[in-house]
Amino acid sequence: MRYDYLIVGAGLYGAAFAHEAHIRGKRCLVIDRRGHVGGNAYTEEICGIHVHRYGAHIFHTDNKKVWNYVNQFAEFNRYTNSPVARYGDELYNLPFNMNTFHALWGVVTPEEAKAEIDRQTAEARERIKGEPKNVEEQALLLAGRDIYEKLVKGYTEKQWGRRATELPAFIIKRLPFRFVYDNNYFNDRYQGIPMGGYTAMVLKMLEGSDVRLSTDFYKDRASLMREAENIIFTGSIDNYFDYCYGALEYRSLRFETELVDTDSYQGNAVVNYTEYDIPYTRIIEHKFFEEFGSAPKRSEAGKTVITREYPAMWQRGEDPYYPLNNERNNDLLKQYQDLAWRTPGVYFGGRLGKYRYYDMDDVILDALTDAEKLMG
Ligand SMILES: Cc1cc2nc3c(=O)[nH]c(=O)nc-3n(C[C@H](O)[C@H](O)[C@H](O)COP(=O)(O)OP(=O)(O)OC[C@H]3O[C@@H](n4cnc5c(N)ncnc54)[C@H](O)[C@@H]3O)c2cc1C
Repeated sequence: MRYDYLIVGAGLYGAAFAHEAHIRGKRCLVIDRRGHVGGNAYTEEICGIHVHRYGAHIFHTDNKKVWNYVNQFAEFNRYTNSPVARYGDELYNLPFNMNTFHALWGVVTPEEAKAEIDRQTAEARERIKGEPKNVEEQALLLAGRDIYEKLVKGYTEKQWGRRATELPAFIIKRLPFRFVYDNNYFNDRYQGIPMGGYTAMVLKMLEGSDVRLSTDFYKDRASLMREAENIIFTGSIDNYFDYCYGALEYRSLRFETELVDTDSYQGNAVVNYTEYDIPYTRIIEHKFFEEFGSAPKRSEAGKTVITREYPAMWQRGEDPYYPLNNERNNDLLKQYQDLAWRTPGVYFGGRLGKYRYYDMDDVILDALTDAEKLMG
């Protein structure tokens, strides 16, 4: 019997769509070229620690419908993202808040902090006349010298692989400040990490569907297409059409994961390295996504797993991570989307299918909306 849907990609989009199809009585075959489900949110267990193989994944949303939806498949813990920035041996809380300002200048009240920011940005306005010509000028005008030099410059340069004076000003539109002693990175109402890891959550979402791993759509395209009425494709849209209009561009990342013989390597889940000379942008210590304070631990004593995250140029054939939504790529995307409209029975979804920077909650919402549109 033919499947109703061949879903290419067992990431969050594919899994949410499969679940929606299953509860509507549809039969789905979900394939992924990787040897695991979960897409980039995949977690694997090492020494009792759920390791985020493709970088830190923190679920956060303002959307109650999405929050209730994911809570059907997993219980979420109380993780609150509170990254720390390291500049040499100086440590600063992120996002920029009263703790950051106190560590930078010894100021205690919001009024004192605002006065120091005003003083430093006024200094920048004296020097920079007219519109900012690059990221350096933009950041100096928005935040002043200390924040720019210690917390913005090196990190941004590493992320983009270019010096701040060569990067266009629009890359940084604003630098949000919070004049409260609150290190919670996200403003969203709901936030947490699924207890038991993302992989277990995605496996639950996929219950009722057939799943084939280590199966690349392109290696067996014709016969896979014969197995189903429709295709939901969550890989790159340009790749699906053999790059006929040219390749969309992405930013990429390289991860270096290490098992370290210590209980705690850095004492926090996320530490950003803001100096240019340190080649990675951050180190993730995975156990702290799930272990809080002195509560009982499930990880092996004396072990921790860390991941260094390096920004990387993307080349065709490598894993694409972040879509680069500039004018050129958006124009190209429109051409591919037109072609997609003219291709019956194939629907594109998810971060790569839609070529949009989606957080996990956006991807879930998109899958629910698309499922409703396609299946009612
Ligand atoms: C480093 C990093 C950190 C992130 N952190 C967060 C965060 O903290 N919070 C948050 O909300 N979001 C975060 N995100 C975004 C999050 O990863 C995505 O929103 C979400 O995983 C996208 O799901 P998806 O199903 O669209 O795509 P993916 O997870 O990319 O899944 C697509 C799947 O399709 C498969 N596939 C592609 N082509 C083929 C093919 N030809 N044949 C077979 N299979 C194929 C791939 O192997 C992949 O498994 C982060 C992303 C990155 C890169």
